[in-house]
Amino acid sequence: MPATLAIDGGTPVRKTLLPYGRQSVSEEDIAAVTEVLRSDWLTTGPKIKEFETAFADFCGVHEAVAVNSGTAALHAAMFALDIGKGDEVIVPTMTFAATANAVVFQGGTPVFVDSDPATLLIDPVCVEKAITKNTKAIIAVDYAGQPADYAALSAIAQKHKLALVADACHALGGKDNDHSVGSLADLSTFSFHPVKPMTTGEGGMITTDNHDYAKRMRRFRNHGITSEHRERHEARSWFYEMQELGYNYRLTDIQSALAMSQLKKVLQWNERRRAIAKKYDTALAMLPGVHTLKVRKNVVHAYHLYVVQIVPERLRVGRKEIFEALSAENIGVNVHYVPAHLHPFYKKRFGTKPGMCPMAEAAYERMLSLPIFAAMSDSDADDVIEAVRKVCAFYAR
Ligand SMILES: *Cc1c(COP(=O)(O)O)cnc(C)c1O
Repeated sequence: MPATLAIDGGTPVRKTLLPYGRQSVSEEDIAAVTEVLRSDWLTTGPKIKEFETAFADFCGVHEAVAVNSGTAALHAAMFALDIGKGDEVIVPTMTFAATANAVVFQGGTPVFVDSDPATLLIDPVCVEKAITKNTKAIIAVDYAGQPADYAALSAIAQKHKLALVADACHALGGKDNDHSVGSLADLSTFSFHPVKPMTTGEGGMITTDNHDYAKRMRRFRNHGITSEHRERHEARSWFYEMQELGYNYRLTDIQSALAMSQLKKVLQWNERRRAIAKKYDTALAMLPGVHTLKVRKNVVHAYHLYVVQIVPERLRVGRKEIFEALSAENIGVNVHYVPAHLHPFYKKRFGTKPGMCPMAEAAYERMLSLPIFAAMSDSDADDVIEAVRKVCAFYAR
């Protein structure tokens, strides 16, 4: 007899909800923040440059430009590449909407492509098929924390003279063939939202080896103005010029101090994420109701997400029921993502529709993200495994 599910009135596996992702903040982080609060500069002060330098070193690139969200980072990358009206940018549909939105902010057209069903990373074959005379760039997404196939994507980008952007919001600390995430494309973007590999509350970064891009993005985050408030303050000067249209996308010094403290721990946190993923891999391999995603050879996976796919042939119910049953067991499952081309905005504005990316659409119907974050204990991970076993056993066919 399978155990009664919590959703049917049984005892839940856990007493309290385990979220799918959560930040780690230490006393050291808090001390770093309070130090800035007592200083002269709360924003656009010395901490920004320190953080940018540390981050560029971490990724092994020449330039890092800090901004106030991952979305702003993507927007700045599209700006640096001069994306505008009539330009097409290839984006994977299996991503958060912001990846494609950044193209639209600049007046460009996102062209959605399908995923490799085994990894849910952008499929290079689909990328090549989507190229037209209007294509300017490709954005790859390191889905779940696994670097995309940059060897294949760079070859395509070079052959067609396109820029390659990595939306690496999931993958800080990851590697592809010994090269660090952040150094794998012409421009790479990061997010410091609390569920991401490290956090500043809200925040973002763009890495690049191109000094011109970096210079333009630093102006872009500051209204398109050539000098910063602190530079004018130090030069006792009031004059400034706005050279082009920009935004206020500045990260504060308060956030940068938190960021530097967090950055020191990313690699050790990722080790912990990988240990939890390994535990899941081993336990779930024995369960016929769920499949795990394939990990490419020679990558270091950052495991922002741990995604499984339910196997409809082995279960009497669909993803919705499994999701609800696991939630009732107090396991904070989630779904990443509704394919971006299926959002009403994209259907209305760009005429996208179901059937355009069949692999991603099918994967969406079957996917679940299980909790994974550095502060999770082994017993938390055991609860997740127990709940998945319990729910799959109950609904097995
Ligand atoms: C989180 C995320 C973003 C947006 O980052 P924000 O900091 O929330 O603006 C963009 N792309 C991907 C893949 C993300 O996961």
